[in-house]
Amino acid sequence: MRPVSLRFESSLLEQAYHHFYTQWLRGQARIAIGIGIFLFILDGLIDLTLSQADLSRVWTLRLILVLIGLVGLGYTYTHRFERHNQVPMALLSLIGAGGLIAIQLSLGSGEAIRYFPSLMLTTFWAYLFLGLRFTSALATGVAIFIIYNLSQRFQHLPDILLLDQNYDLLAANVIAAFAAYFSERQRRTLFHQRCLIDQERQVHLQHAMEDELTRLPNRRHLEQSLERLLGEEGMQAHAGLFVDIDHFKPVNDRYGHEVGDAALRIIAQRIRQATRDSDIVCRLGGDEFFVILMDVEGTDAAQRVADKLLSSLQQPLTIDAPDGERVRCTISASLGIITFPFEDATPSTILSRADRAMYRAKAAGRNGYALFDPQLDLQGRSSNA
Ligand code: GH3
Ligand code: MG
Repeated sequence: MRPVSLRFESSLLEQAYHHFYTQWLRGQARIAIGIGIFLFILDGLIDLTLSQADLSRVWTLRLILVLIGLVGLGYTYTHRFERHNQVPMALLSLIGAGGLIAIQLSLGSGEAIRYFPSLMLTTFWAYLFLGLRFTSALATGVAIFIIYNLSQRFQHLPDILLLDQNYDLLAANVIAAFAAYFSERQRRTLFHQRCLIDQERQVHLQHAMEDELTRLPNRRHLEQSLERLLGEEGMQAHAGLFVDIDHFKPVNDRYGHEVGDAALRIIAQRIRQATRDSDIVCRLGGDEFFVILMDVEGTDAAQRVADKLLSSLQQPLTIDAPDGERVRCTISASLGIITFPFEDATPSTILSRADRAMYRAKAAGRNGYALFDPQLDLQGRSSNA
């Protein structure tokens, strides 16, 4: 954060803050303008009961200011407010202060002095209530101070009184400027911390959805993706491939777990490369993977991808073992193919049907695929029973 302007060094963070700040400012400005108008009218009513002077010109000015305040209030409801808010809101404060100075000028010096506290309050209002950024509020406070002093050419206050009022206005600027500075700094610090927490939450969320070994989406991610696809209106047809590596345990037993892990990472890459970017490739755990082939009509296309996948996985794997030896091994896989949606499809029925098809591919001799077939599935299940 820059020390005076309080801008974030990162332009992305500054942009995000602006987005958040504009929403907040909109609400804050509405409350401040609404209450400002109310207090200004109340002040006028008190005036009516106290003052002996002719207040018709004061009321004309007062009503013009109220009208301008209402225009400012209306402006906070427009889209323009999102891009242009500092200058219009600062102008509104300046017009408010200018109006009070004009009221003072329209009255004799004895009556005018009663409006000086209102000018002080307008200064505090601009710095602390309206929600202006510190730098804009500072510019507004200084401008009010200068305009007030320029107006003295026409007011001719006694020097001692003018000095006293200048001191009061200056003190109000210093106090309000520090308060506005610290409150904006605190707001920005809180925003920054919230961003950091959000980022951390995102990372955790990503980890919870990711397989640590291969960095592919995990089972939970797959289930959510299937849930989302099944919930889509006018859902397209998709296919699922359940992939289980054949005889993977012996790879671990022979070369060790680390080589097994490296093999799983290469297998993950090969499955990714054999499928389209829009397809979803997940590791379910162990040596099991699942691929959602998006927008696949019928089983032909799914079978073509299965063939491509099988021949890619058959290519020898070359892995550097921890002992420095270069291991070369060949693996194969068995695949179960399912198309969905089907009646009462859920993530778990899709997975279990594809799993059962995969087991038929294993039973048929491995290194191949099988389509889910309800008839065969029924026979298989009754013979297992
Ligand atoms: P099948 O042809 O019947 O699939 O035989 P398989 O040896 O592949 O046996 P199965 O699929 O039932 O078991 C998977 C094996 O994968 C068990 C375990 O040795 C190994 N494995 C599971 N998770 C990991 C892992 O995270 N890292 C490594 N290196 N091996 C794993
Ligand atoms: Mg296996």
